[in-house]
Amino acid sequence: MKTVHNFNAGPCVLPKPALEASIKALKNFKETGMSVIEVSHRSKEWEEVMEECRSLWIELLNIPKGYKVLFLGGGASSQFLYVAMNLLEKKAGYLETGVWAKKAIKEAKGFGETLIVGSSADKNFTFIPKGYTIPTDLDYFHITTNNTIYGTEIHEDIDCPVNLVADMSSDIMSRPIDISKYALIYGGAQKNVGPAGVTFVIIREDILGKVTRYIPTMLNYKTHIEKDSMFNTPPVFPVFVMTETLKWVKSRGGVEAMYKVNKEKAELLYKEIDRNKMFKGTAAKEDRSLMNVCFVMADEYKEKEADFMAFSKERGMVGIKGHRSVGGFRASIYNSCPTESVKALVECMQEFEKHNG
Ligand SMILES: *Cc1c(COP(=O)(O)O)cnc(C)c1O
Repeated sequence: MKTVHNFNAGPCVLPKPALEASIKALKNFKETGMSVIEVSHRSKEWEEVMEECRSLWIELLNIPKGYKVLFLGGGASSQFLYVAMNLLEKKAGYLETGVWAKKAIKEAKGFGETLIVGSSADKNFTFIPKGYTIPTDLDYFHITTNNTIYGTEIHEDIDCPVNLVADMSSDIMSRPIDISKYALIYGGAQKNVGPAGVTFVIIREDILGKVTRYIPTMLNYKTHIEKDSMFNTPPVFPVFVMTETLKWVKSRGGVEAMYKVNKEKAELLYKEIDRNKMFKGTAAKEDRSLMNVCFVMADEYKEKEADFMAFSKERGMVGIKGHRSVGGFRASIYNSCPTESVKALVECMQEFEKHNG
């Protein structure tokens, strides 16, 4: 197989051991003589996987009592709607930090009043708003902890006087978090904890049951809590791969160890972006994401963008084209992205400067 350095934003690179275990289970799941996608989701063997997955979430993130971990379908995009439908009675606050936040706001509008508590829209979402005040009469306050497209990240768990809801699609498990500061955390697995097809939700149970509207069965968090995420057929294969991915996180020393390596990887790349005269970063320095590193050609080298794209492609770099709303480049360096890949990209930038700078 060809050697590539995979910087895709999602779906993205997964740990090799997780992929290998998944391939094995596709052929013969726990010596059942059947594939993991052929066994009943009510079988003992499958129930063990669900239980192991839940336990790993609880252990790795230190999830306290009173919270439930759910595995659902529909992606983070469905959670924009779930959150509002289950929690919004009168008014919710949102921090508008990018396209994903805007989509979350759009869905909530159908259920109640939405208040933009802070926004970075005026500077194309290149920073995290600060100094805002969260009103105390909100049903909840919603944040996007990592803005995948713009490469900005909220690096600390914020203090919030109302229920705090967080879209952590692209930085869950990348650093230790204090779960008790959040009422609900959700995300698509395909950025940092697995393949596409499963959505995780960490929810404090006592926030439910406060809205007066009818909530359809499948969209009601209570349904999935009562049935341990098995009200209907769960996305079995994505859950399996996610479990293997979390086992890998644990084997590497857990979230604290991930955080240490993530900081090192990000520093390597940002250091080169700041040093190399041909490139410049796009996000405000203090808000730079450890997960998605966004950069463009420096002004005097603007016409070299396509050249660098081709140059890096030749050297095995995959997925570094920036999102169309930002342009330039984006290297997504999630947990499973090896340090060697980051080093290879840094070398590639240095070589390009030598040839063209
Ligand atoms: C990718 C992404 C989403 C959308 O996730 P889907 O699972 O594709 O719906 C939402 N929020 C953030 C922060 C993302 O990075």
